[in-house]
Amino acid sequence: MVVIQCPHCQEDVGLEDGETGLFDCHYCNNDFTWDGGLQTNDLTDKFLVFLFSVFSPSLSFIASLLIMFILGGGGGWAALGYFVISVGICLFYTTILAIISVLKKNKPLSQGIGLSLLVSILTIFMVAETL
Ligand SMILES: [Zn+2]
Repeated sequence: MVVIQCPHCQEDVGLEDGETGLFDCHYCNNDFTWDGGLQTNDLTDKFLVFLFSVFSPSLSFIASLLIMFILGGGGGWAALGYFVISVGICLFYTTILAIISVLKKNKPLSQGIGLSLLVSILTIFMVAETL
């Protein structure tokens, strides 16, 4: 049994494993096609995708911040330069993930990215305070 979202009304619709083709939604009675598994349906997978999208941009950001502190020596224009670069890398990475999540209509991925953006913005403010 797989559970997918109806593309018309976003309700969860249960289908038998391996079933593909045209289906009627019980909620809105619209037809939709299902090709059998490009979407992530398993709850554990959704959670892992969510965790990945929350933490991977933050991790890339934290890693570049660490490099900044080691190389930048804790101050001055060099540190600011590394800070801007790490923010740039993080934003670039998050934007790519966001585009993928929209293209794949992957809800946990976009939710995770939203949360991750929030965390990144908070981190940027915290680091900016210490500079
Ligand atoms: Zn529907």
